[in-house]
This record gives sequence, structure tokens and C-alpha cells, in this order.
Amino acid sequence: MDIRTTTRTELIDITYRVRAAVKDSGIKDGICVITTRHTTCGIIVNENERGLRADILDLLETLVPETKKYAHNSIDDNADAHLRAVLLGMSETIPIEDGHIVLGTWQSIFFVELDGPRNRTVHVKIIEV
Ligand code: ZN
Repeated sequence: MDIRTTTRTELIDITYRVRAAVKDSGIKDGICVITTRHTTCGIIVNENERGLRADILDLLETLVPETKKYAHNSIDDNADAHLRAVLLGMSETIPIEDGHIVLGTWQSIFFVELDGPRNRTVHVKIIEV
């Protein structure tokens, strides 16, 4: 799926798009793997609440400050985005049962932009098991 991000850092809820992909696949029992091939993005699962989305971005700023001196910034100006992506990881794996992804009531799947705005791609691989 294509994603157009609009700010440098943001969380974008892609749950409904993953649900649609699973439905379109027709697979009833299996595994859904959501990945990004970018090095300055992450895929996470958590609650979609406005304050929490801000808190997650604040946490990343606390752990990996944007303005710190980084070696990578001598050739590119986005070391913080790469390091934050390391913390988040580039994929999530979610089971599929009875044709639906198995998520808790408060769980949403997010694409996390860490060096936007950019055009991004997320891959959804659905495997029948
Ligand atoms: Zn870079």
C-alpha cells in the first residue's frame, strides 16, 4: 500500500487497510506480515488515541534527540530517524482467524513516519497456514 506522509514524524493508522487486504485475500486462517522496506520508518501496534500518539513521538525524541551530534549526519541529515526506526522495528506479524486479523479492542496497526514528509510503501504479506 502507498502512504503519503505530511509531516516529519507521525503515526498513521493502517489497520483498516490491512483488514481490507486480509478480506480481499479470502484467506480464513493464516498469518499477516506487515513490513516496510524503508530505513527511516517503523511498524508498530498500539492504541490509537491522540494523546498517546503524541506521547510515543515524545518518547522517541527523549530516547533519540533530533539535534544530537550523530556520525551519520556527516553524509545525511537524518540519523535520528534511522536510530528511531531501529527501536521500532520494520514489521509486525498478526494471526488471521476466521478471516479476520486477531487484534485486541484497543490495538491498531501504525505506520510510523520518522523522516517525512515522503511517499512510502508498506507491504502486506498474507500466508495461509
Ligand atoms: Zn540517512
